[in-house]
Amino acid sequence: MSLTAGPTVHTSDFIRTAVREDLASGRFTCVRTRFPPEPNGYLHIGHAKAMAVDFEIAREFGGTCNLRFDDTNPVKEEQEYVDAIMEDVRWLGYRWDGLYFASDYFEQLYEFAVKLIRKGKAYVCDLSPDELREYRGTLTQPGRESPWRNRSVEENLDLFARMRAGEFPEGSRTLRAKIDMAAGNINLRDPVMYRIIRASHHRTGDAWCIYPTYDFAHGQCDSIEGITHSLCSLEYEDHRPLYEWFLRELEIFAPRQIEFARLNLSYTVLSKRKLLKLVKEGYVRGWDDPRMPTLRGLRRRGYTPSAIRDFCARIGVAKADSVVDIAMLEHSLRDELNKTAPRVMAVLRPLRVVLENYPAGQTEMLEAVNNPEDPAAGTRQVPFGRVLYIEQDDFMEDPPPKFYRLAPGREVRLRYGYFIRCTDVVKDTAGNVVELRCTYDPDTRGGSAPDGRKVKATIHWVSAVHALPVEARLYDHLFTRPDPDDVEEGESFLGALNPKSLEVVEGFAEPSVADSPIGKHYQFERLGYFVTDPDSTPARLVFNRAVTLKDAWARAAGQG
Ligand code: ATP
Ligand code: MG
Repeated sequence: MSLTAGPTVHTSDFIRTAVREDLASGRFTCVRTRFPPEPNGYLHIGHAKAMAVDFEIAREFGGTCNLRFDDTNPVKEEQEYVDAIMEDVRWLGYRWDGLYFASDYFEQLYEFAVKLIRKGKAYVCDLSPDELREYRGTLTQPGRESPWRNRSVEENLDLFARMRAGEFPEGSRTLRAKIDMAAGNINLRDPVMYRIIRASHHRTGDAWCIYPTYDFAHGQCDSIEGITHSLCSLEYEDHRPLYEWFLRELEIFAPRQIEFARLNLSYTVLSKRKLLKLVKEGYVRGWDDPRMPTLRGLRRRGYTPSAIRDFCARIGVAKADSVVDIAMLEHSLRDELNKTAPRVMAVLRPLRVVLENYPAGQTEMLEAVNNPEDPAAGTRQVPFGRVLYIEQDDFMEDPPPKFYRLAPGREVRLRYGYFIRCTDVVKDTAGNVVELRCTYDPDTRGGSAPDGRKVKATIHWVSAVHALPVEARLYDHLFTRPDPDDVEEGESFLGALNPKSLEVVEGFAEPSVADSPIGKHYQFERLGYFVTDPDSTPARLVFNRAVTLKDAWARAAGQG
């Protein structure tokens, strides 16, 4: 197993400490982990955290990490998700050792179940799903024993074989572990091991009509693969006694399950069920909508695998649930793109500027620095002419005291160019400013005046005749509240959707961005980091703003 690139962070968290102890004590002689997604949706940033734990711990200890699909519920699972998950794991930079499916083990799991029946540790129960729930009891009340609990081994073996043979309708019978209906931990109250589901499975087709539950499948799959450390999120903590019970009763190799806190991100939901709802009900354009926390969404938004891995390394693993500020994720991307993204000029809300003393039809090339953080990135030539576009925001007819950019009579510097002075304002019949008349000072080429006079602002621009039309998609958080799930009884997280999460603007970019491949990053000077979207065509480039230049995280952390 290997990691294609990225930071090596030798942290010493509680999981690594436990792994080290297990090696030292001889409980295990090697480290084998697995990443076990259920193919019922696309991977999201929370899964990236789980992968960082599973794959990187295996790598650090010279072990292996399998990709195992937890495909035990045919109703929700699809091949489409299997393919997408494999692609996303690879995209993130992880390479699995073994590729397995829980469904590979259906026959073996069936035999394990038979073994438990023979030991008197499992029985076929005829309670309906509603009755099962009712008999289970609550946190404060013990459960009740099923009237079918004391069937003979022979009867159980016969009924279980007939369940498999398809003799009974869906929901009519289950196979349950015989543990303790009075257990404080509800998971131990005779949990269901098999249920009848009449649905085609994406891999086993109609070979089976009984399917193991997560609880019965997971630990046994881990055991079969010789997984030493079964690392999972905190919601499985209460399942651990059951995980251990099955392995003990089956007398098979017992991995160690260790739980860590799930990743929660502010202004985001990280549940496949909720993400599916956003997609199915059209609140976003798809699983890869750049506002989605899916790996596909993040990729389209402009996130790189290394930025996501860097984020996972920064957050680390902990035992207690917490919410990570989404600004921290943005920080990881900004940090990287600052070092790698070429700078270009683009104007997203254009205002026409005519330099009245610049010769009509003349073009000159101005030298611009590609990346001040990376001298090796060199320079490029940017065309300049009589008609330019600047940002509407960089001009005010009536500037307030602290506004230093362009205004009537005022002089500013054009980035890499000249000083210009606004001499006149052209308005439409509604009174909107539609064009500025300016003069330029030929002696200020390169950005300084021989007479030493100063200007207070430098603004970016694009030459109108050379400009490429671009569509820019500007994103804000998908939700207006830090915790979208913090809703009143009966309300939905959908109520927290941000109606302004996407703004589309039409602007112009300098010609150097022509022919940008999809996924190419730039810093549009003063506007943020952008990436070319798959919707781009040579005639019309489309850019997503990946992240703005303002670093809320570094500021909050006292670094900015
Ligand atoms: P969801 O609730 O979004 O459906 P899940 O836990 O059902 O997520 P799985 O496909 O079963 O999704 O998850 C595969 C692995 O990823 C599991 O080990 C799970 O613990 C882990 N995982 C899922 N979500 C997160 C998260 N937000 N943070 C950390 N690990 C996660
Ligand atoms: Mg799950």
